[in-house]
Amino acid sequence: MRVYALLIAALCALVAPLAPAAEVDGVRLWAGPEGTRVVLDLSRPAEHRLFTLADPHRVVIDISGSSLASGTRLPSGDGPVSGVRSARQGDGTLRVVLDLADRVQASSFLLPPNETYGHRLVIDLGNGNGNGSEPVRRARADDGRGRDLVIAIDAGHGGEDPGAIGRGGTREKDVVLAIARELAKLVEDEPGMRPVLIRDGDYFIPLRGRIERARAAQADLFLSIHADAYFNQNARGATVYMLSQGGASDEVARRVAERENAADLVGGVRLSDKDDMLASVLLDLSQTAALSVGASVGQQLINEMGRVTRMRRDSVQRAPFVVLKSPDIPSLLVETAYISNPEEERGLSDRAHQRRLARAMLNGVRGYFHENPPSDTYIARMRERGLSEPGRYVVSRGDTLSGIANRHNVSLGALRNENNLADDRIRVGQVLTIPTSSGG
Ligand SMILES: [Zn+2]
Repeated sequence: MRVYALLIAALCALVAPLAPAAEVDGVRLWAGPEGTRVVLDLSRPAEHRLFTLADPHRVVIDISGSSLASGTRLPSGDGPVSGVRSARQGDGTLRVVLDLADRVQASSFLLPPNETYGHRLVIDLGNGNGNGSEPVRRARADDGRGRDLVIAIDAGHGGEDPGAIGRGGTREKDVVLAIARELAKLVEDEPGMRPVLIRDGDYFIPLRGRIERARAAQADLFLSIHADAYFNQNARGATVYMLSQGGASDEVARRVAERENAADLVGGVRLSDKDDMLASVLLDLSQTAALSVGASVGQQLINEMGRVTRMRRDSVQRAPFVVLKSPDIPSLLVETAYISNPEEERGLSDRAHQRRLARAMLNGVRGYFHENPPSDTYIARMRERGLSEPGRYVVSRGDTLSGIANRHNVSLGALRNENNLADDRIRVGQVLTIPTSSGG
């Protein structure tokens, strides 16, 4: 017996050094407002140990039997991380050190390979106060003016998750952020509305985190902005989606939802993340109301976007998108174009086209909410008085140009001139400038 034990021990000693060492061949760092994530690409799973040290503060990750692949560049510091360095220990352990300006909470987990990445070791750093800062829930104060409508604008993907990538190298996460920022600027300038950018930088937010941020901001509408991709580069056109509680409206919708829902896996969410509130929430009546509002806003978006870009479908499509699962906020996902179509990829990266898309989305949102404003909002109060902002009128269903001219005590000709209208046709949600003098 003893001999066998010795023999086995000797064999193990022989075998251990022969096991191929794991190589770390990529290190990425993403600093966001709610935390910082460091991702190490591993050639195979490896045991690791994480601990923190003080004076100066740092996080140390020891990966056993590993080395840094030659040519691998370590990221420079960002957020709470002032620097990243690595060293090979005598026992074959790779030590990665994150230098910190301050103490942080650190945790780590391994992710198995997926379509985009291989094995990954993810290190999450909080923002010093537990698990990142909790968004503050704002009270809705009523000062008689009426509150602003809150439009949550969600640029899809980000950080570790690039989203779809065009043939020219355009990344979905970049162009949708550009469109989201344009839209936020327009909403900011819109009387009675306020934007909340769910993501405002190149970092990753889990799908549920996006919903939570919109809820914390008490959003009236949640718009998730994306770009589609398909292996056939002829596929083109924009699509507006809402949540389906069952299956998808068609095969394309099912595929798109599957791809967008995979964002959490690409972005590095712990796989044990559970599907918490959903089951109970699906039967909730408030969700039925939110779905019906979403369907109407979605149709207005399609009408307006159809003026500036090709639409793949002229009705709102349905599929089980995780990011649209807010129980009480009307939520829509807009696939603005096919990034896999070379012509549409060029459009997506074009500043002027990004602006056109954003303006069309604003027009759709405005068109819906001026007709159906929640009663405690500024827009509702203004409309009760038959006006909108001084000097500005938003067209509602049933309005005629002559009726608007009468109500504001201006001539039809002056109203037409002021707005460069060739005829008397107007559309819901359109903004008219009301001339200051009646002009005869
Ligand atoms: Zn997407």
